[in-house]
Amino acid sequence: MLSPFENPIYVTRPLLPDLENVSGKLEEIWESKQVTNNGKQLTLLSKQLQEYLQAQHLSIFNNGTLALLLGLKALGLKGEVITTPFTFPATVQALDWNQLTPVFCDIDRKTLNIDANKIESLITENTSAILAVHVFGNPCETEKIQNIADKYGLKVIYDGAHAFGAKIGGNPISSYGDMTMFSFHATKLFNTVEGGALTFRDGELVRKLDLLKNFGLLNGEEVVLSGLNAKMNEIQAGIGLEVLKIVEEERKKRHRIKKTYEQHLAGIPGIRIITNLENEQSSYQYFVIEIDKNKFGRSRDWLQKKLTEYNVFTRKYFYPLCSEFDWYTHLESAQGKNLPVANKSVEQVLSLPFYGELELDSVTKICRIFQELHITQETVTQL
Ligand SMILES: *Cc1c(COP(=O)(O)O)cnc(C)c1O
Repeated sequence: MLSPFENPIYVTRPLLPDLENVSGKLEEIWESKQVTNNGKQLTLLSKQLQEYLQAQHLSIFNNGTLALLLGLKALGLKGEVITTPFTFPATVQALDWNQLTPVFCDIDRKTLNIDANKIESLITENTSAILAVHVFGNPCETEKIQNIADKYGLKVIYDGAHAFGAKIGGNPISSYGDMTMFSFHATKLFNTVEGGALTFRDGELVRKLDLLKNFGLLNGEEVVLSGLNAKMNEIQAGIGLEVLKIVEEERKKRHRIKKTYEQHLAGIPGIRIITNLENEQSSYQYFVIEIDKNKFGRSRDWLQKKLTEYNVFTRKYFYPLCSEFDWYTHLESAQGKNLPVANKSVEQVLSLPFYGELELDSVTKICRIFQELHITQETVTQL
């Protein structure tokens, strides 16, 4: 047996700038005496992110969940929204808090994104939008989705929490749909510790979102709508400005790590790598595989547990399906028989350690552990 790693290898590590640079930012903020409410750092971060994401309009929030929740609110959606069960709880919880009913659509076998070919049959007279997720930073089939939306007059919103910097045929991911949410949580490629943003097409929404994230307060005196507090503060914005400087380097490192995984996992039976479609550029948010128990000889859950003995810590992303939440079990679209691909994948997915500082030697060793743990077909027959 290969020896365990000396130190634990976690699934991710936050991308942190040099502490010295952060101290510099803090001094600047202390000096200014403005620590939140649209200060200099936030204004600068908005400008730089708008350029980086090539967004028509951009609005920053204190986290991705509230960005999505208030974005849906600003669009004034009603009734049903077609979405995916294979996502983080925040996607559907943002619908719940807007009194919108999710209609779960099965996912695509290859990318695990919403299956664009199955959306149309779920549309009813109550449908107002499609909320799709660029899962693991691999873009959805945006053209097919837009065609359906245009045909039925639906809004398209993307949960792009994983998709910072992803592209389709050279076009920025923010250029698709009516609105895209990005998360800047510490686990995400670009982070502000906690944070998020919306990019969107309709310039009218700028003012509305400004009100929604600041108690509906106009001029400090009039309250014109029922809002929330969802503002990002200056300290987080300042950290974001420093992280933005190192994000491209991180992406390059992750690209190399992905290549190394691909090279060394190839040929191990029962392991399939989830990757982007042709002509698409992933953000490299996660590196996720599927374990086919019959071919690999061991189940995903067995493998995940066994890996901890080698000091390797993986995650089941995403598990469980959102359609399994107690408060959705009465929905027809949440029934297992209507979501065959999602129900299969949720038992097979495993997110592997993936962050720039992960050494290529460690990646190779992780792959050798997989080699060591899989059972050949002959052995299975003998058992
Ligand atoms: C991280 C994440 C969110 C939530 O973002 P926060 O910034 O943590 O609120 C939403 N959707 C998906 C798919 C995510 O991975």
